[in-house]
Parts: sequence; C-alpha cells; structure tokens
Amino acid sequence: MRETQILPLVVIALVAALVSVVAMWSMDRAGQGGDLTNTVRGTDAFIEWKLVTTWPKGLPGLGAAPENFARRVNEASGGRLRIKVFGAGEIVPPFEVFDAVSRRVAEAGHGASYYWKGKIPAAVFYTAVPFGMTAQEANGWLHYGGGLALWRELYEPFGVVPFAGGSTGVQMAGWFNKRLNNREDLAGLKMRIPGLAGEVFDAAGGSAVRIAGGEVYTSMQTGVIDAVEWVGPYNDRTLGLMEVGDYYYYPGWHEPGAMLEIIVNKEALAALPEDLQAIVTVAARATNSDMLDDFTAHNSESLEILLRDFDMELLPLPDDVMDILYEESQVAVQALIDADPMAAKIAASYFDFFQRVRTYHEISERAYLNGRDRVMPPVSFTE
Ligand code: CA
Repeated sequence: MRETQILPLVVIALVAALVSVVAMWSMDRAGQGGDLTNTVRGTDAFIEWKLVTTWPKGLPGLGAAPENFARRVNEASGGRLRIKVFGAGEIVPPFEVFDAVSRRVAEAGHGASYYWKGKIPAAVFYTAVPFGMTAQEANGWLHYGGGLALWRELYEPFGVVPFAGGSTGVQMAGWFNKRLNNREDLAGLKMRIPGLAGEVFDAAGGSAVRIAGGEVYTSMQTGVIDAVEWVGPYNDRTLGLMEVGDYYYYPGWHEPGAMLEIIVNKEALAALPEDLQAIVTVAARATNSDMLDDFTAHNSESLEILLRDFDMELLPLPDDVMDILYEESQVAVQALIDADPMAAKIAASYFDFFQRVRTYHEISERAYLNGRDRVMPPVSFTE
C-alpha cells in the first residue's frame, strides 16, 4: 500500500478514537454531575441561592464579607451558582439566620456563631473565648488544628455546614457613658455584649443585653443601655457610636479575634456538582482572610478620624477591671465545659492548641513586636 493511501485511513482512525474519548468523557461527566450539569451546560440555566445575614444591609466590614463571598462564587462559577444576599430583617430577623439555613428558608447565611448559644452552647467557641486566641491563632486551630471538623460535628444535627467566614482581629472593649476607675464601676451597668462575655459581664456586676447591630445606636441614645461593644473603630464609626458614647475603652478582652461564619444548608451543598462545591469552599476561605485584611487596613484610619473629629476619650481598661473580667471568664468557661459534653470536647481541642501556639508565639510574634518596639517605639494615638 502506497503512503497516499495510508494517510486517509490514519486520519479516519484518529478521528474515530477522538470521538469515542469525548463520548466516554461526556458520559462520565453526566454520571458525576447528574442532570444539573447537563442542563447548565446545554442552556443558560443556573442555581440561585439566598444568603441571609445578621448584619444591616450595606454595612462595611462585617456586611461586606457576605457580599464578597457571593460575588466570588458568582464569578468563579461563570454564573452557574448565583447567590443573592439579604440583610438583617429582609427575609428573617438577624437572630433567626441559623434556623433559616437549617430549615432551608435560605440556602446560606453569614453571622456570628455566638448568637446561637441559647440553642448550641458550645457555639461560642467559634466566635470568641474571652482572653482566648487571636485571629491568627484561631485560624491555625480551625484549619490545621482540628477546630473546623469539630465545628461541623457541632452543627451536623441541624443540617448546617459551617465555614470560617472572616475575622475582625482584636476588637475594642466598647463605648461607655461613664468612666471606669475600678471593678465597682461595673455595678448595674447595662451593656450590649453578646456570647460568653455577656455572662462574664453579668458575673462581674454588670447587666448584659442582647441587641443586634441595627439597634445599638438607638439603644445607646435612648439610655436603654449605658455601654456597647460592637467591633472596633471601622465598624463602630459606621454605626455612629461615637455620637452616643463618651469613653472608648480597649482592649477587646472579650473578643480577641472574633470569627464570623458562613453557614450552608447541608442538603443544598450536597446537591451541587463537585466543582461548585469546591468553588463555595474556596470562596469562603478567600472571604475569611479578606475580612481580616479589610479591618487591618481600616481600623487605624477610622480611629484617627474619630479622635480628630469627635469629642471622645480613648482609654485602656484599668487592671482591676481586667482582673475581675479574667476571673469571671475562667468561671464561665468552666461552667460551660461542665454543663455540655460537646463544649468539653471542643474546649479540650481549643485550649490544647492555644497553649502550644502561645508558647511558640512567645519567641516569634511577641519577641518580634517587643524587639521592634525597643529599637523603634510606636507613636501613640493619644500623643
Ligand atoms: Ca463584638
């Protein structure tokens, strides 16, 4: 057979092989992704999720995180999974976000786990433990220390899958309408302060009040409360708290690295093709680190503006106040551990990681900051 006769046969054989490979690949895809993948590929069909939040619509920082998460998912999926974000009260009130996701009123949510402590006491570990881990430490625990796996176990009975959804970094202790000289000044003080820290504040002589972000300004203005902790300069300024509080205290003993959460209905997540599930996971991880960057960049800038433009005083909490808050924090954490086996299991993991990472941070983070300050003292905000 001459070469000119062989060539067409080779071409036909190659084309046939290519067609069969493509056909096998398509069948494989159909088997993995189900009808949904084919539908999306064949038409302009898409999946739409509702995401409800505990934040007022349009709030920078905390409220920007769910918007960014939704945008990332929409873009990375080429519009195959579209997430529509609803602010507090648009579909459900802020403190009903978890139930809404559990019952699939919405497929996803963004908020803070400690809002659900009435239903799930151990959930407080996933926002903040008073005098506990910083954002950097907590992220290490979640993603490489077993924290996230325990969080998923905790929410499993409710059909909800949590993802880390951002961190504010160390918060401020809050705005007070009176100066605090010692622990006696906490007596009878009504303060908006959620989570385990609320119990600590009660035990230290104060009175903790549970109020969502959208109502803190009015509550402070009308004297329903005497003090409020919200987040820090960036988000506190957005809520206008400098107009209703006189003394701005630090540091945020109660929320040293407040973590937020993205929660997804388990069935809704499982129904997605694998690539969209991966996109949800990656977008959540990006949102988690992005929020800390956002707060890091904007807190210092906002505090400068607050001090320059408003009549307020920036003060550290007196040691005596910090001491009583620490003592009562120890009691509150122990009571939680004693009352709830799941809290005990999570606490064991949390504090084991905490102690080990702290020991290392003595010779890394702290040693570096101390060394840097010695040769190059920082400029104080109040100078
Ligand atoms: Ca807070």
